[in-house]
Amino acid sequence: MNLNTKNDRTAWLEGSSTQCELPVERESGLRLVLLGAPGVGKGTQAHLLNQRLGACHLSTGDVFRAAGSRAECDQTPAMKQAMEYMRRGALVPDATVWEMVRERSACIRCAGGFILDGFPRTLAQAESLKMLMESEGISLSAVVNYELPLEEIVARLSGRRTCQTCKSIFHITEQPPRTQGVCDQCGGPLFQREDDRPEAVTVRMEVYQRSTAPLIDFYRNLGLLVPVLAAGSPDEICARTLVSLPQLRG
Ligand code: AMP
Repeated sequence: MNLNTKNDRTAWLEGSSTQCELPVERESGLRLVLLGAPGVGKGTQAHLLNQRLGACHLSTGDVFRAAGSRAECDQTPAMKQAMEYMRRGALVPDATVWEMVRERSACIRCAGGFILDGFPRTLAQAESLKMLMESEGISLSAVVNYELPLEEIVARLSGRRTCQTCKSIFHITEQPPRTQGVCDQCGGPLFQREDDRPEAVTVRMEVYQRSTAPLIDFYRNLGLLVPVLAAGSPDEICARTLVSLPQLRG
């Protein structure tokens, strides 16, 4: 198993004109999709799985946030529109999301594998990903579905804080930083995402039920679904994930 923990996501965050600096000799890695309601902990698990497996953590939400933090004049009209959807907690239209992922198809083809977090989120996106991968002669290793009761998810979301610089995730009570408001990893400032505020959280949960929950059946029918209980500490959940992945069982 590839234990290279460097996670160079430059190409993923910035698009096709940017080169990834990961060594090309990386071994064949796992290609994972992480599913689950917003706030269930997919981002934290993607980060931990990256450390254990070496495959890059690819989050579509991070790409939109990175685009949103650029100067207005550097944003395409589609990205400006995407920011509006995001602020409300609504899904960005499939065409915009797919254009963005397609530009980064080198990350999908990467021999080091990937951990997709927040994509696909609709059946149309899942179909597009399947077709792209089939055309490249590659397939997903597994789709991990993180499960947790709704009340616990809402509590997690409202206490979540994200590092502005390195995107590490903390929680004000469950996983507090050593110094309040400061990232343990890089010393960057922590902030509450606009879409983690209560009004947006309600919209995101409705959107999840309507658009993303059907992906559970889609991937179950493809024989790829791996359900994992998302209760406990991040390390416990990660350990549970690793033992659930058929590819890692002795
Ligand atoms: P996340 O960080 O994955 O929770 O994403 C934050 C927000 O970005 C979502 O609430 C959506 O507005 C937008 N977004 C991220 N990924 C997608 C996607 N695959 N499809 C549509 N919208 C997305």
